[in-house]
Amino acid sequence: MQKPKGTVDITPQTIRGWHQLEEAIKSLTQMYHIQEIRTPVFETTEVFHRSVGELSDIVTKETYTFFDRGERSMTLRPEGTAGIVRSLIEQKLYIQPQKLYYTGPMFRYERPQAGRQRQFHQFGVEYFGYEDAASDAEIVAFAVTWLELLGIHDYVLKINYLGDHETKARYTKALVDYFTPIKATLSKDNQSRLAVNPLRILDDASLDLQGLPTIESMLSDAEQEYLQRFSSYLDALQIPFERDPRIVRGLDYYTGIVFEVQSTHPSFGSQTALLGGGRYDQLVAEFGGPQTPAVGFAAGLERVLLAMEYEGVLEPPKDGIDVAVCFMPETATDAFR
Ligand code: AMP
Repeated sequence: MQKPKGTVDITPQTIRGWHQLEEAIKSLTQMYHIQEIRTPVFETTEVFHRSVGELSDIVTKETYTFFDRGERSMTLRPEGTAGIVRSLIEQKLYIQPQKLYYTGPMFRYERPQAGRQRQFHQFGVEYFGYEDAASDAEIVAFAVTWLELLGIHDYVLKINYLGDHETKARYTKALVDYFTPIKATLSKDNQSRLAVNPLRILDDASLDLQGLPTIESMLSDAEQEYLQRFSSYLDALQIPFERDPRIVRGLDYYTGIVFEVQSTHPSFGSQTALLGGGRYDQLVAEFGGPQTPAVGFAAGLERVLLAMEYEGVLEPPKDGIDVAVCFMPETATDAFR
């Protein structure tokens, strides 16, 4: 028998790196006073349809969905945020601000390749009830500090700003107006994105963005000021970043600041994103909870481990044997004791 396609056995020979990751997560979350939350690896299917977006790639093509023996539709979680928002509301955690983290397996039916699996692991952080640009900056600072603590230095931090819900909607409409007359020149994939998630077209690295409407031109004064404050916080921490209009994130729920950290190590193939996240102020309310601002990120642990391997900072496996006891047959009991 063989393991399912897209899964990996983590053996005693490869576990050391995982422990390194977990130790860094423990110490840094403690320092930032971020508390752990553990939610089920499967949820009722509507949890993901409601959050990730009915028409997102994840929901339409990648979920492991099945009927349980009671004929209820269940889905193995493809990401962590939706289940945590469900729990935040069900457990009424929202009555005070929360800084939460999670780690665990996620499941997406994708074509496996280097850095892309069907069962993979994420570490994520979510802040609920924090609306200031300082919390976006704190989340970003936490993420890069964690990478640095692990010894990863070959990366670039890319930031984009989608404005609030209305600005994002207006910008999406501007893109539709721009692309619709030239639809025939777009690839098949981009044509379907135009119909379901036009922002995702910007994700396509082969597309020339020259001449396209920019989100900058649509930001209100208050939004400009927010972005300015966010940037000055990162400057104060001396965290360099690039503005990149291509960072739009695959999931529907993001508004405001969105970001990605990509490895720049030459050994990486096409899957360079180590982590990504952003603000999602509407999601808790969309789930039926009170209006609660939120911001977070998720890191792919297999990719972070690859970065550690390429940058030569993985610690060797521990041998583990400190003492050997030798004995004669007649002293076996004493030796055993
Ligand atoms: P996402 O939830 O798609 O924004 O993904 C967050 C992070 O999880 C990415 O930056 C990757 O590091 C990682 N990731 C996403 N999908 C996979 C996958 N299929 N296999 C391994 N890592 C993944």
